[in-house]
Amino acid sequence: MKVVTSVRELRDELSCVDPQGVGFVPTMGALHAGHRSLVECARRENATVVVSVFVNPTQFNDKNDLKHYPRTPEADARLLEAAGADFVLMPSVEEIYPEEDTRVFDFGQIDKVMEGATRPGHFNGVAQVVSRLFDIVRPARAYFGEKDFQQIAVIRRMVELEGFNLEIVDCPILRESDGLAMSSRNVRLTPEQRAVAPGIHKVLAESLATAATTPLAQTKKEVIEKINAIPFMEVEYYEIVDPLTMQPIENWEDSKNGSPVGCITVYCGDVRLIDNIRYNRG
Ligand code: AMP
Repeated sequence: MKVVTSVRELRDELSCVDPQGVGFVPTMGALHAGHRSLVECARRENATVVVSVFVNPTQFNDKNDLKHYPRTPEADARLLEAAGADFVLMPSVEEIYPEEDTRVFDFGQIDKVMEGATRPGHFNGVAQVVSRLFDIVRPARAYFGEKDFQQIAVIRRMVELEGFNLEIVDCPILRESDGLAMSSRNVRLTPEQRAVAPGIHKVLAESLATAATTPLAQTKKEVIEKINAIPFMEVEYYEIVDPLTMQPIENWEDSKNGSPVGCITVYCGDVRLIDNIRYNRG
């Protein structure tokens, strides 16, 4: 595995490989088994696996969040070596943005809800960095986690808008053994918060059973109330959406593009946690 910090060096390395065999996993580092599963999936499907580790400033609407975002480059390199990556790009901000990126993407309705509504500019920043990285790496396939469910819809739209010829592969959420979705932010939880954090997934999973016999609005209300009743927790939003359009639905039958997905964001103390669950129907 080779760690490179410059875009030019990576381009030179990749000029020697078959572009049809390049798989790419973009990350912000502080890697865990969830990231590793994406790299392993890319490893199975590609001759060359490229991973980027870059904390992208343009997607942080909260500068405090950016400042406290965990950075563990040495441990990341070890994890990526073990997962079978070939190239790791760990660039500086100047390397990715030699000039300020002022592009504004039109995602239609996709970013008007949930993460898009609560983190203004976030998805525009994500699209800026991912399109820049796609330009650099020019992968045949790129791998994203379903933990960031709305992000995948945004990336697919950006790929359409920019005319990239590549496949977006979505990968399932990896969880700790107690059900908590793995996240780089979990290390910021205090021991007391970490002890109650699995409650998010537990409440969502329990709601699958009640959903079979309960109207959507009631199911939604119960999830919010139960999670808010857990110490340290405050639900920012819980929406049950169509899996393609990301638009919230009012009745279970209103999802036109497959089973509805419940997407949640919860503050546990000052740590912002996201998760989701699919309400399989029929
Ligand atoms: P991040 O470093 O948080 O930007 O995440 C990089 C990629 O890893 C994104 O595609 C995430 O959706 C994915 N990812 C993060 N956490 C998990 C997880 N627990 N399971 C699967 N994929 C994940």
